[in-house]
Amino acid sequence: CGIVGYTGERNTVEVLLEGLSRLEYRGYDSAGIAVVADDAVASRKRGGKLKVLRESLESAPLPEGSIGIGHTRWATHGGPTDQNAHPHLGDEGRLALIHNGIIENFAALRAELEAAGEAFESETDTEAAAKLLGRAFRETGDLTSAMLQVVGRLEGQFTLLAVHQEQPGVVVGAAHNSPLLVGFGEGEQFLGSDVSAFVKYTASAAALDNDQVATITPEGASVVDFSGAPVEPKRFEVDWDA
Ligand code: GLU
Repeated sequence: CGIVGYTGERNTVEVLLEGLSRLEYRGYDSAGIAVVADDAVASRKRGGKLKVLRESLESAPLPEGSIGIGHTRWATHGGPTDQNAHPHLGDEGRLALIHNGIIENFAALRAELEAAGEAFESETDTEAAAKLLGRAFRETGDLTSAMLQVVGRLEGQFTLLAVHQEQPGVVVGAAHNSPLLVGFGEGEQFLGSDVSAFVKYTASAAALDNDQVATITPEGASVVDFSGAPVEPKRFEVDWDA
């Protein structure tokens, strides 16, 4: 339902929670975040309001992290439980993924992945994409290449954001019939399902066109279409008082 991604020097957990609180108006039933800190993915997710996630993070904090992704979920497949909340993990916990939308062919993908030895922890459509992306990363060694491989196998509508602990500066996002925006900062970059996810930090943004993949690092953002061809994102200034 609501999506935020961050790479940069700020306290990542705080940036993600701030973004998620500004996305709350869209409605949701669960919330979760993942960060990469000390070359390891750390995540926390809870059914219920953002407050429940915040309280969990206060009593047992996650490391600050240099990159991270955050999600508020509006359940379509699987009830609003902790387990079904996003992020979902792939590549044996080395990768975390969040998703807005519906993956229509998840049952066939899940059957194929389970036959190949993947163990699922949730009832969501999303987890099939996480496991698929993990396997694509093991093949390609690069999250953007892996994402380009995976989007070709998904049917439905989706915004996906992912991080992998072997690429600790990088957040990758993909969009198919679902919105994704880049927020451009100085030494930090953002991704969001709408500008409210990052408008507190930057007013410089670009909306991806349909079927594009964005890769952000602290230094900048690059966008390609689903065939891998580079695209120049169309930047605009958000006219909005943060
Ligand atoms: N279909 C996914 C799920 O049920 C994502 C729902 C959403 O857009 O929040 O977990």
